[in-house]
Amino acid sequence: MYNYNVAIIGAGPAGIFAALEITKLKPEWKVILIEKGDRIENRKCLLREGYAKCPTCKKCGLLCGWGGAGAFSDGKLTLTPDVGGHLSEYMSRGEVEELIDYADKYYLKFGATEEVFGTDRKVYDELERQAALAELRLVYSPVRHLGTERSLDVLKNMQDFLDEHITILNGVSAESLIVECEQVKGIKLNNGDTICAQYTIIAPGREGADWLTQEFAKNKIGMVNNAVDVGVRVELPAPVFEPLTSKLYESKLIYHAPTFGDEVRTFCMNPNGEVVQENYNGIATVNGHSYAEMKTKNTNFALLVSERFTEPFKEPIRYGQHIASLANMLGGGILVQRFGDLLDGRRSTPDRIKSSIITPTLSCATPGDLSLVIPYRQMTSIIEMLQALDKLCPGTASRYTLLYGIEVKFYSARVKLTDKLETEGVKNLFTIGDGAGVTRGLIQASASGIHVARTICSR
Ligand SMILES: Cc1cc2nc3c(=O)[nH]c(=O)nc-3n(C[C@H](O)[C@H](O)[C@H](O)COP(=O)(O)OP(=O)(O)OC[C@H]3O[C@@H](n4cnc5c(N)ncnc54)[C@H](O)[C@@H]3O)c2cc1C
Repeated sequence: MYNYNVAIIGAGPAGIFAALEITKLKPEWKVILIEKGDRIENRKCLLREGYAKCPTCKKCGLLCGWGGAGAFSDGKLTLTPDVGGHLSEYMSRGEVEELIDYADKYYLKFGATEEVFGTDRKVYDELERQAALAELRLVYSPVRHLGTERSLDVLKNMQDFLDEHITILNGVSAESLIVECEQVKGIKLNNGDTICAQYTIIAPGREGADWLTQEFAKNKIGMVNNAVDVGVRVELPAPVFEPLTSKLYESKLIYHAPTFGDEVRTFCMNPNGEVVQENYNGIATVNGHSYAEMKTKNTNFALLVSERFTEPFKEPIRYGQHIASLANMLGGGILVQRFGDLLDGRRSTPDRIKSSIITPTLSCATPGDLSLVIPYRQMTSIIEMLQALDKLCPGTASRYTLLYGIEVKFYSARVKLTDKLETEGVKNLFTIGDGAGVTRGLIQASASGIHVARTICSR
């Protein structure tokens, strides 16, 4: 006997949007959402509250809790199927576009800002032309930017709404899946309770990806390796990138570095933003964000080199962790180096950083030498990318440009899924969002939630 029609694991955008859509389509259904972190108003990241170093909390306050990994992000909704996930591999481009548009309307309904950057096709065409002259590909990607403060308000509004319609459990983890005769029957929780549900949606994000991999191995559900992206966060004076950021806000630029032919891309651009430290399973890594109101004089973005490994190596996440750990070992956390020092083959020192035209926004980063950490292959590709970007935005390859390491994007191993995002081999079990390896960003994670909600409600 089922207590619930649907159980959802994880209250990141994927899980929240699944709940919103089910509530809309089947208001009479009983839905339970299980989230191991806190409610949005109780979420706390000590690093964000002024701790100099990440205290590596048992449950990472940055990644866990209502809103998931994106809660403290500045909420950039990239409104295109080309960025932030692989949903187009499961359905037609038109279907993904419709889902993105639909998810975007939910964000608006719950209080998102109206303005969308980068929609002017003429401006985009001209910038695309200039990028091409520098051998860079500019991806058309309109962005709705919420800003960190607004993003929290939107999530709080969604939580208030769902409080009225479904059961939400906070501070409780899903421990194992109950599978009988190749069909999911429910979930065992870490507080000893059992949830019996006809359908289960797993949306644990990258934070819960290891748990997901273990559960799926136990239930013989197939997984395939994803790539790992390794790189640095670049910080430079905001005017250097203004030709792009004033028109597009965020620009996605792709380059095939000549020496190794690897793809290098810009990621998560933050005009007038700040660089931040985050913690991944006890390893300090770097990220960036920007606020709607508070502005710095700098712009930051990641440069990521994608590596997809071939047989026999099967542990891309361990590879990324290893590189990030090496930076932690040398710098006691995040390393920062001026581009000029890197090219001159010397470490950056506190004095060299002080005698720059850029003040680092991440004060806890240790001046050091990234060439001791980043493999030759990725380092060469990053240097080549900076030189290409310098042709588009002169000043990018300045000796003062700051490089923070390591930025790593670990993408969970991809679950073998049907076009409905149902696991192959276990019926009524759906896996969505970043934890399933099918998305990498807020809007596609949200869209994946809507997609499975529609499927379930139509059965
Ligand atoms: C600092 C930062 C900034 C970002 N900025 C942006 C941005 O501006 N734009 C963008 O598009 N993307 C951004 N992202 C990425 C974006 O946040 C993710 O793509 C998105 O949150 C993925 O959604 P999700 O629902 O799949 O997983 P998550 O958001 O990771 O949510 C998963 C939730 O599941 C919970 N959970 C895990 N395991 C269990 C379990 N066993 N039991 C119960 N609960 C569990 C976790 O606590 C978590 O709350 C950013 C990410 C970070 C870390």
